[in-house]
Amino acid sequence: MKNDIEMDVNKILTEINSCIDCKDCMEVCDTYKVTLDELKSPNGRLKIAEKVFSNNPITEEERKGLYTCTLCGLCDLTCQQEIQISEIIHSSKVKLVDENKAPLEIHNKIIRGIIEKDNSVGGNPEDRLNWLPESYKAKELFEKKDSDTLLFFGCMSSFRVTESALAPYKILKLAGYDFKILEEEPCCGEYVYSAGNLNLAKKMFQENIELFKKIGIKNLIVTCGGCLYAFDNVYRKYFKDFNIKVRHIIDVIYELEKNNKITLNPLNKIITYHDACRVGRKNKSSPLYSEPRQLLKKCGLEIKELSENPEECPCCGAGSGIRGVDSSICIKIGKELFNNIESKEIVTSCPLCVFNFRYVNFKNQMDKESKYITDYILESLRK
Ligand code: SF4
Ligand code: SF4
Repeated sequence: MKNDIEMDVNKILTEINSCIDCKDCMEVCDTYKVTLDELKSPNGRLKIAEKVFSNNPITEEERKGLYTCTLCGLCDLTCQQEIQISEIIHSSKVKLVDENKAPLEIHNKIIRGIIEKDNSVGGNPEDRLNWLPESYKAKELFEKKDSDTLLFFGCMSSFRVTESALAPYKILKLAGYDFKILEEEPCCGEYVYSAGNLNLAKKMFQENIELFKKIGIKNLIVTCGGCLYAFDNVYRKYFKDFNIKVRHIIDVIYELEKNNKITLNPLNKIITYHDACRVGRKNKSSPLYSEPRQLLKKCGLEIKELSENPEECPCCGAGSGIRGVDSSICIKIGKELFNNIESKEIVTSCPLCVFNFRYVNFKNQMDKESKYITDYILESLRK
């Protein structure tokens, strides 16, 4: 099966060739800042992409250069030529996969795990709902419930940062919100898409769309930035009739609070809020900047910022499977970020960022605490 990017090769090459080599993009790229390796910079990756789209061979180091990009999208904001650098890097991966020259073995291993177990973290499918207390599980009708709203957790919330599944579930229950959950949840396909295996990703998207149709879903609520980016941005790009309303859990809780369905009490703490790229700048259809901050303020939290403009918030260092390719890069990116944080606690709306921050904290032996945003909301609700 051929991919539609082949049709755009001339357009992509024209865009790459509009680069004026100003190197502004290199100043914002975290993978470049911690490695000082041009092959791991936006500008360097564009040069690799030019080779890929001109059908010239690339070296193993250049292939690794493409696969150490977190697709965070920071470079896209800086380019005065308005080159969509991260999109071009992604398209290069798709072309390489089409030609059987990518992804790397680590991606293939994880993709085999996704096919076998429906998640990217090697979780046992039978343990997917281990976070759900028996008292709730006993009453759950799962997909059989007569609701058109699905709360979708994704692999990170289900297996790795399980409080980002439990707290959203409990908050919606406490607010009397009508929703259902799946007993056997599929993978959203974002990992496969980011690795460049577009054909397989599109197959997964289609299967998920058919599942949602079959169980009558009109609204999808997600907890993970990757799922949000996939469902609300990527699915719509390839399936024009995908008309399910997709919302991040924070957007839903924000509305509940505004409509007095929940009341938040002050916790009186100082935290730093981190804008996950796939909840903010990469989530072009509905970026969430003000809603999480307003909710955290209603919880009585004083917020410290990582950047003046939330759209320019630095990368957590973990996107697009970089940890499997070169974990030292994300450990260094995380350390740099932590060094700029005054508060002990860092809060974000993406479980992958929470997971990576905990890994970075452990590897660097620092004393930071990373939390998913609903932890505070649940604590504030119970006070
Ligand atoms: S900012 Fe844009 S024009 Fe400047 S080097 Fe980067 S890609 Fe090229
Ligand atoms: S998307 Fe992020 S990691 Fe990739 S080149 Fe741009 S700034 Fe660097």
